[in-house]
Order: sequence, then C-alpha cells, then structure tokens
Amino acid sequence: MRFDVLTLFPGIFSGYLSQGLLHKAIERGLIDVQLHNIRDWSSDPKHHKVDDRPYGGGPGMVMMAGPIVDCIESVRGKAADAGKLIYLTPQGRPLTQPLVEQWAGERRLLLLCGRYEGVDQRVLDLLEPEEVSVGDYILNGGEVAAMVVIDAVVRLVPGVLGDEESSVSDSFSSGNRWLEGAQYTRPREYRGLQVPEILMSGDHAAIARWRKEQGFLKTRRVRADLLGKNEDSKS
Ligand code: SAM
Repeated sequence: MRFDVLTLFPGIFSGYLSQGLLHKAIERGLIDVQLHNIRDWSSDPKHHKVDDRPYGGGPGMVMMAGPIVDCIESVRGKAADAGKLIYLTPQGRPLTQPLVEQWAGERRLLLLCGRYEGVDQRVLDLLEPEEVSVGDYILNGGEVAAMVVIDAVVRLVPGVLGDEESSVSDSFSSGNRWLEGAQYTRPREYRGLQVPEILMSGDHAAIARWRKEQGFLKTRRVRADLLGKNEDSKS
C-alpha cells in the first residue's frame, strides 16, 4: 500500500517513519510512504511562498491553491493509480475505525496536510478530497493527523502485525461491540494487586466470557455513548 503525504514540513515524519512497526513495514515492502514538500510547487522561485493573506481580512494566512493543486496533480501524474485524496481538517467527518478499515482496502492514499488557517476553498472545490478530522480540537497542522491515519491504517495491512488476531480484538474493530477489557502480564502480583484468578485457570471459554464482560463494564463506565439504545446489560 502506498501513502503520499503532501506537507510543508516533511521533516516532521522522519522520526516516526524510522521506528517500530512503521519502519519494519517499510523495510519489508508492505507499505511505501512518499513525502512531498508543497513548497517545491511554489511559483515564487526566491522565497518559495505558499501562503497569503485572506481576502476579506481576518487573522493569519491561507495556503494558496496553486502550489497545492500543482503538487497533487504532479504526484498523481507519476503513477497509474491516482489514489484516494484525503484532506486532514478539523472541519471534516470524524475519523473512525470503520473508515480506517475501508481505507485499508485502498491501494494508495494521498494525505494533504494544511497549515496556517487552512487551504484556499478552491483546492477543495476542484479536487473534492474526503475531509477528515482526528478530533474536535485544533492542531497546528495536518501532519500529526496524517500520522494518525497512517498509523491506524497500517495496522490493518496484511502482514504488518505479527499476530493478525491482535487487530481483530482491538477496541472499535468491526465485530467488537465494546472496548477491549483489562490486560495483565507478569508479575502475578504487583504492589499488592493480583492478576485475576480466572486468567490462570486455563479455561479458555471462561476467560473469553470474562474478557467480554470486562469489555462491556469498561465501555459502560467510560464510553456509555457506544452502547446501543437497548444494550444496558451484557449479552
Ligand atoms: N482555521 C482552521 C479552522 O478553524 O478550521 C484551522 C486551521 S489549523 C490551525 C491548520 C491545519 O491543521 C488545518 O488546515 C488542518 O490541516 C490541520 N488540523 C488542525 N486540526 C485538525 C484536526 N482536528 N483534524 C485534522 N486536521 C487538523
């Protein structure tokens, strides 16, 4: 799977892409992440300017349409698969696991990262990207949001996770109605707190039931909004 990130700050990604799962997935050729600096498509050869003051006044600067559209058209033009264009913006639809699962089936995602006060509306009118938000708060730029998308999607690319099961049991995975329940590892006792006996019982059916119940109780405690209207007790 290929990701093209369109950004004014490609350097932000270097640490993230050189560590852990992402690094391994790239090394093994399971994913390819290409970074493109929008500034390279500026029509200003001297200062590489890509932003300007907003028409009608107001604070801050707006990213100009020209460099962004030229960058995307050029990046798309190089490959047979034009890919799905996503604009990371607080004004987009919320990013959810079902959306992540859908995108994991794409062959190519292009992630447009905004800066300043955002992008000229004509970028959105011309290219009609899918607009997606990572939460109801304002980040300085779309780079961290793009990393969130890559990080979430990559987990679902076949072969990336060592244990395929681990994404299936994750909270929010389709087929998992509730949050994942409590997890324990060694030591068996820590500062007076014991690992629940059931987990040592070897009774896999009972353990599965216990885990399901724990997931339900956790969901009811911290995310009651996730429970269906008639779902006030575990079943
Ligand atoms: N003035 C804009 C508004 O009120 O909607 C916010 C601009 S924000 C400072 C700059 C850029 O950060 C945005 O263009 C977007 O790419 C990114 N960004 C900020 N918050 C985000 C969020 N919650 N989800 C996704 N991207 C976000």
